[in-house]
Amino acid sequence: MEINLVSDTVTRPGHEMLQQMFRAKVGDDVYKQDPTVNELEDTVASLFGMEAALFFPSGSMANQTAIKLHTNPGDELICDKWAHVFNYEGGGVAFNSGVSSRLIDGNRGMITAQQVVDAINPPDFYHSPLTSLVCIENTTNKGGGACYDLQTLMEIGEVCKANNLKYHLDGARLWNALVAKRQHPKQFGQLFDTISVCLSKGLGAPVGSLLVGSKEHIHKAMRIRKVFGGGMRQAGYLAAAGLYALQNNVGRLEEDHRRAKQLGNLLQQLPWIDKVEPVETNILIFSLKPQIDEKAFMEKLKQKNIFISSLGKNKLRIVTHLDYKEVMHNYVIETLSKMVF
Ligand SMILES: *Cc1c(COP(=O)(O)O)cnc(C)c1O
Repeated sequence: MEINLVSDTVTRPGHEMLQQMFRAKVGDDVYKQDPTVNELEDTVASLFGMEAALFFPSGSMANQTAIKLHTNPGDELICDKWAHVFNYEGGGVAFNSGVSSRLIDGNRGMITAQQVVDAINPPDFYHSPLTSLVCIENTTNKGGGACYDLQTLMEIGEVCKANNLKYHLDGARLWNALVAKRQHPKQFGQLFDTISVCLSKGLGAPVGSLLVGSKEHIHKAMRIRKVFGGGMRQAGYLAAAGLYALQNNVGRLEEDHRRAKQLGNLLQQLPWIDKVEPVETNILIFSLKPQIDEKAFMEKLKQKNIFISSLGKNKLRIVTHLDYKEVMHNYVIETLSKMVF
């Protein structure tokens, strides 16, 4: 039995999800004639109280489409220094949109309204790039699954309005935040111009993300998705997995959060641990004492069939998910407790 805690993207579709995929009614989605994709898009749009949604093969493509949508070449966007859009989308901000990124030194991947104010270039000062977009990430990935307070997001939204900036949310793990903070998707729909959400992380679908926004934005997004090569044909088989995930796998994220917190509490008590970051959702980031070699530690875990990932500099990451079951959890707790150096 392999226990993969490297990411919540490692889940495989279960029997029931596969059955729903098999049974999906499909059509050509490039002609908007796939009933299951249309149903998924309508479902997610109304969940957020927004006009429209568009299905994407990946979260990166949904984010990159939003960035293209909201900017012109030469503009600048504002995001945290750890943001996925800047660090893990292959330089797409520059490549796809010709846009520069103003990085903010946030707290666990989260930024404040004042930091945004300070990062805006004066629009009439034509020597600087024109600031046109703020990108938020919730929950934060590299920030260890931290979640924003709505208050902060509202304050940043006000700054955006006052300065004519567009406001995009990278909500790859927004489902985790909604469950952990008991927030409602409509509260986010009211705030942002566009929101991207992933079905293939905590929700356990094999493929798929959506971009949600106004009819006008999503209409433009369709052309950009086409340019990026993201128009899919009988994508309803994939959308069916997404619908299944939304119906069955949102509430249970609480279990992932509980297990991540339990692991965090355990690690806190172990003598070879230097620091455990606060655990809010399903991501747990911790550091080993400097004298412990991170490669050797990971190798030791590997021999016990437990796989985790390194963030460098003795920082490690564990992500809990749908396929990490209670028996595995008990085994991991026992294994970690018994480790000595
Ligand atoms: C996973 C992730 C994405 C999207 O990634 P894809 O692998 O392209 O689906 C976007 N933002 C964050 C914060 C993520 O963790």
